Amino acid sequence: IPAFSQTPPNPFRVATEATFPPFEFQQGGQLTGFDIDLMRAIGEEADLNIDFRNLPFDGIIPALQARTVEAAISGMTITAERAQAISFSRPYFRAGLAIAVREDNKTIKNFEDLKGKRIAVQIGTTGALEATKIPGATVSQFDSAALALQELINGRVEAVVNDKPVTLYAIKQAGLRGVKVVGELLTEEFYGIALPKNSPYLQLINDALGRVIESGRYDAIFRQWFGE
Ligand code: GLN
Repeated sequence: IPAFSQTPPNPFRVATEATFPPFEFQQGGQLTGFDIDLMRAIGEEADLNIDFRNLPFDGIIPALQARTVEAAISGMTITAERAQAISFSRPYFRAGLAIAVREDNKTIKNFEDLKGKRIAVQIGTTGALEATKIPGATVSQFDSAALALQELINGRVEAVVNDKPVTLYAIKQAGLRGVKVVGELLTEEFYGIALPKNSPYLQLINDALGRVIESGRYDAIFRQWFGE
């Protein structure tokens, strides 16, 4: 039964896992990133007093289900499985998974090459899900993509499966050394803003997101973070 729209709570609590640059991260103690700017723009459009809550990524869906937050924005891929537990806004970003290896690695070029290998991932992510499907692979799960990449640099795993824009940003913008991205996008994924099932605010968020896109503000935020 679709819920009727209601006056949104003040503050409007939005969960995020702030170790995922350039989408959400901390800089000088401040929350920043593409998703943060986008959600603030949506908040202005919808007249919401957004209050971000930093949660572990695998705690976000439980928090939505417990309704201790009204929404979440966290580079979260829209999947059929998640859509059984929570609701998603219209897609707002196209991403996908990519493989990262150490610069000197010449053997891993694609998904097939990961069979039987040691792989690091971020817990609860689509990357973790895909990695655990690889025959014979040993998958180590970490609380953040940064920790997974550190494990790669330290030589304890041979690859990381993570969202391509995040791994590329770590290499190109954040100066991560000794790591390269190989192969094509393994998956095509779309990020959505997550809400509890039957949230009365889904329409509000979708309408505001639509206005942020149509007004050109989305493009300005995109250019700011991805420089195109
Ligand atoms: N897009 C991936 C997912 O939804 C990773 C998200 C993240 O680590 N913040 O699982």
